[in-house]
Amino acid sequence: MPRVAGRHRVVVVGGGFGGLQCVLGLRRVPVDVTLVDRQNYHLFTPLLYQVASSLLNPSEIAAPLRKVLRRAPNARFRQGDVVDVDLAGRRVVLADGAELPYDDLVLATGTTTNFFGNSEVAQHSLGLKTLGEALQLRNHVLDCLERATVVSGDDERRTLLTFCIVGGGPTGVEYAGALAELVRLVLPHEYPEIAFGAVRIVLLEGGERLLPMFAPSLSAYARRELERLGVEVRLGELVSSATDESVTTRSGTSIATASVVWTAGVRPEDLVTTIPLARGVAGRIEVDERLRVRDAPGVFAIGDIAAARDRRGDVLAMQSPQAMQEGRYVARSIAAGLAGNTVAPFRYREKGSLATIGRKAAVGQIGPLRLRGLLGWVVWLVVHLYYLIGFENRFRVMLRWGWYYLRYDRPIRSIIRAAEGSGSGARPQRE
Ligand SMILES: Cc1cc2nc3c(=O)[nH]c(=O)nc-3n(C[C@H](O)[C@H](O)[C@H](O)COP(=O)(O)OP(=O)(O)OC[C@H]3O[C@@H](n4cnc5c(N)ncnc54)[C@H](O)[C@@H]3O)c2cc1C
Repeated sequence: MPRVAGRHRVVVVGGGFGGLQCVLGLRRVPVDVTLVDRQNYHLFTPLLYQVASSLLNPSEIAAPLRKVLRRAPNARFRQGDVVDVDLAGRRVVLADGAELPYDDLVLATGTTTNFFGNSEVAQHSLGLKTLGEALQLRNHVLDCLERATVVSGDDERRTLLTFCIVGGGPTGVEYAGALAELVRLVLPHEYPEIAFGAVRIVLLEGGERLLPMFAPSLSAYARRELERLGVEVRLGELVSSATDESVTTRSGTSIATASVVWTAGVRPEDLVTTIPLARGVAGRIEVDERLRVRDAPGVFAIGDIAAARDRRGDVLAMQSPQAMQEGRYVARSIAAGLAGNTVAPFRYREKGSLATIGRKAAVGQIGPLRLRGLLGWVVWLVVHLYYLIGFENRFRVMLRWGWYYLRYDRPIRSIIRAAEGSGSGARPQRE
């Protein structure tokens, strides 16, 4: 459906899981859609840790938004950073000064890394939230291994070969497992200068168990599997400070390390903190049961930035199925509104949670069903392939996984110094 002047204008800010589903859901609705994102690609975050651990290439988990929008002829893409919203004038303001008028606005800007106000930790840790950060982390780890082959002091080598991951949620667990496999696979064959046992991977979690959103038995399984891979799991440890050579916890534990990987929290993107909108749990925007923002006519908020609730009134978790369902719902709601109808309140359909630890080891919780081990891993593989955007990417990722499974190889290990600095958590590279 081509765009028509004077038609109802929908601006969607954020081409992540929620925003993209909203745009695609509107493709047959008589509206003109503008999708704004500071990046020109949709990022499949669940596989980001595989880019950081040398298994996948960035392009395999990043779908160009213009290519995706081929399926939506009534939509245009505008790359830009939204810095303000004029709620009274119904205009979105971009960093380059451009203004986009809207009749309906969908805010879907997701989250950014949360260092809980600890700027020292922010400065000295590596993030795993954006593609830039994943590449930076991959470079950094490979760089540490190279430098460990040439330094003469034992202390310095130990520091370079100790990797601390902060946060025992899915991202921390998945990255810890993948890093352990990378080290086990490449070190013995390619780094004769380094004794295999010299590498330490430490996972620090502030709570009492890993993967707190899963059943305790699955948390325990994840811990056992990580320990089998050689990861040291330390629970009840809250990080208080970090330098380029160490990390210290509130209990007084200090670990010499050149690598602090921060996966311990997220908070709403800065944009939503500057617009005067009601915010609730964890700073997320308060929305009603139709995902409309209170006191802001024509504005919807979806995904991680919105405090949408389930039937029991609990705020939904920050996960991609929630964001996608909300995006599709808002598209239906806008279409119904134009036709003079209303849709029933939003109801999240539970999709469950999955996390992988390593080869043939994953956990899954779908309603009352608990999955672990090989079965969990197979379900994890199928679900992630299914949701990855684009046939070509699915095919390439499947080939890489097959290669890895058969050949025990994580092949993407070139240290490429691309322009870095994706925002928070950008630790300066030491050459
Ligand atoms: C490493 C990692 C692993 C994850 N693994 C899983 C998983 O296995 N399963 C799962 O369900 N969930 C997972 N998640 C969570 C999942 O990614 C989020 O819940 C989901 O992305 C939320 O979708 P969203 O549309 O709200 O935001 P996002 O998908 O984050 O999209 C937000 C978009 O808005 C853009 N944007 C932000 N601010 C602006 C601005 N001011 N101007 C213009 N554009 C802007 C961003 O560039 C981005 O493209 C993971 C997250 C991370 C970081």
